[in-house]
Amino acid sequence: MAAIIIDGKVVSASVRERIKAEVSEMDIKPGLAVIIVGSDPASHVYVRNKKRGCEEVGFNSWVYELPEETAEDELLALIDKLNGEDNVHGILVQLPLPKHINESAVTERIVPEKDVDAFHAVNAGKILKGEDTLLPCTPAGIMELLSHYDIPVRGRRCVVIGRSNIVGKPTALLLLAADGTVTVCHSKTNDLPAVTREADILVSAVGIAGFVTADMVKPGAVVIDVGMNRDKDGKLCGDVDFPAVSDIASYITPVPGGVGPMTISMLLRNTLTAAKNIIKTN
Ligand code: NAP
Repeated sequence: MAAIIIDGKVVSASVRERIKAEVSEMDIKPGLAVIIVGSDPASHVYVRNKKRGCEEVGFNSWVYELPEETAEDELLALIDKLNGEDNVHGILVQLPLPKHINESAVTERIVPEKDVDAFHAVNAGKILKGEDTLLPCTPAGIMELLSHYDIPVRGRRCVVIGRSNIVGKPTALLLLAADGTVTVCHSKTNDLPAVTREADILVSAVGIAGFVTADMVKPGAVVIDVGMNRDKDGKLCGDVDFPAVSDIASYITPVPGGVGPMTISMLLRNTLTAAKNIIKTN
């Protein structure tokens, strides 16, 4: 039987509706500042979509477009200024940054309360400890998809392929916090298919088109495809061999239209959470 397709656009729209409703009841507008350095076209598209998302839910937003040759000190000074501004509740620096800028120094400069990407070591540490905090957007989006479709995590075997700080590791921690039994795989994993075939919930965050084939998936598994790749015709695709795997999985996310649409919605949710937390403590 063919798998149920998890519709990220529908879930994302419902998240945004809830945010919009909450914002309409608030005395202040949550505000997101986005900084982009350089002229990478894909990054500019992402930033435009983030700004559009803010407008859709009634947030203030500001985009700072800095030239490629911006010095690290200048960027840090702008972050310091935004850290101190009362109407800015979330700050995001679009990655990747030009090579002469130390990415880690930049992400660590944003105060943790406004770190809506949740890349700061304080937020990463709180996730590790299972404490309440802003959650990294893509992993939070995956959890939202599972919850929206009433897919239980508790007690189930979860396998995450990929161990990046942005996707793989935090996804594993969120699944663990939801009482999953979690295995993290990477490029040095021995006999990967034997591990992935044990998964009730399989998350792939590798970045290779067609990487997850049907023989790597247990019949009835839930398959979450985080990959964003181009196939040989230049078309956007995920890591998973969708036609073959959707024949044996119980649920599957498509690419595009699965995890992707969730990421900006989770950024908006983080900005709302940050605004509420900041208002509470002021
Ligand atoms: P990344 O930093 O390049 O990490 C890729 C991971 O895959 C690494 O941990 C790597 O293992 C592992 N890997 C590579 N080849 C492997 C192999 N042959 N077998 C097993 N594991 C292998 O990438 P990322 O930032 O996590 O992103 C992963 C994918 O998700 C990309 O396609 C990216 O575009 C996409 N993405 C999508 C969204 C979204 O909103 N949908 C958001 C973020 C990322 P090692 O650690 O051993 O090298």
